[in-house]
Amino acid sequence: MPRGDGTGPWGQGPGTGKGNGGCEKKTAPLAVIDAGTCVSCGACIDTCPAGALIMKDIAVVDTLKCTGCGACVNICSAGAIALKPR
Ligand code: SF4
Ligand code: SF4
Repeated sequence: MPRGDGTGPWGQGPGTGKGNGGCEKKTAPLAVIDAGTCVSCGACIDTCPAGALIMKDIAVVDTLKCTGCGACVNICSAGAIALKPR
């Protein structure tokens, strides 16, 4: 069994039995931040295990780093983040 995050059908991995090591960027969903909803609290920045979030006027996702893990979605009390297909 792969050790995927179990976040959905994207995280199944190749099934080699060696674990997927989070290498799911090509098929994983992408975190998208609603600019009108983000209150710039910064909670997601500290939560992202991939370092894919930075703070500008609002939180911004580095699309090359985001693994689609969903941690930011869960931590955002404003409901400003959603996972969407790439
Ligand atoms: S946790 Fe939500 S409201 Fe806070 S900075 Fe991140 S996206 Fe914005
Ligand atoms: S989905 Fe995961 S990797 Fe992508 S920005 Fe959110 S916490 Fe970071």
